[in-house]
Amino acid sequence: MQKKEQMYEGKAKKVFATDDPNLVIVDYKDDATAFNGEKKGTIVGKGAINNVMSNHMFQLLEQQGVPTHFVEQLSERETVVKKVSIVPLEVIIRNISAGSFAKRYGVEEGIVFDEPTVEFSYKNDDLGDPLMNAYHAIALKLATREEIEQIKGMAFKVNEVMKQYFDTLNVLLVDFKLEFGKTADGKIVLADEISPDTCRLWDKTTKEKLDKDRFRRDLGGVEEAYQEIMKRVLGK
Ligand code: ADP
Ligand code: UDP
Repeated sequence: MQKKEQMYEGKAKKVFATDDPNLVIVDYKDDATAFNGEKKGTIVGKGAINNVMSNHMFQLLEQQGVPTHFVEQLSERETVVKKVSIVPLEVIIRNISAGSFAKRYGVEEGIVFDEPTVEFSYKNDDLGDPLMNAYHAIALKLATREEIEQIKGMAFKVNEVMKQYFDTLNVLLVDFKLEFGKTADGKIVLADEISPDTCRLWDKTTKEKLDKDRFRRDLGGVEEAYQEIMKRVLGK
């Protein structure tokens, strides 16, 4: 397969066309941003870690019956994925209070929920990814009611698989963001990435943060945290 022109450069990845109209190549960068791009930096080695970890998670999820965009890893940072039209919703699942949830409702971090929660944000950088409910998404024709139900079901299934998996690595899956897309034949699949950029991951014993919060909150040791997660995922 041939890598062709760059179609898009985002905050964390570049997307390239290929000679197959149904496939694109994603190229993961070390660039890190937070607070809607206001804070910028580099996390050395992040691109390679997020690529390998995302592919590991996508393959695990496929085995458990969740369709994903994953096709084939090409190199340390590059992966072939099915080209999708992204549903412009960030789908956030939470198991434990943290981040914007704790802030919005004025509660401490670390409250373990009896049931996971789901919320949507409109994926729109100019508007700062505002929170949105399903009715708003349907009104704006971002997705149909049926698609939203399907996306919610898939997101909860992803949570069950990932929660169990991280538990075996002595890691708590606090919350995470998913993106879904539609393939050329209209099927909804899990897309984008699953990494310490998009998941809150805490060591189960020490509650140490092993994710992007180390960057967001200037906690230091961010490269080490990403490497630690990678080591646990790869069992090395
Ligand atoms: P952002 O656009 O938020 O800065 P990234 O830097 O991660 O994010 O850029 C990757 C872009 O590619 C995102 O907009 C994401 O929605 C999109 N994307 C992810 N998976 C696919 C796919 N399989 N096909 C097409 N676009 C995708
Ligand atoms: N998240 C993400 N991209 C975003 C916003 C959130 O990957 O644009 C992830 C984030 O890493 C966390 C979860 O979604 O795992 C919930 O984030 P939250 O709403 O708490 O926002 P934050 O306070 O992290 O900005």
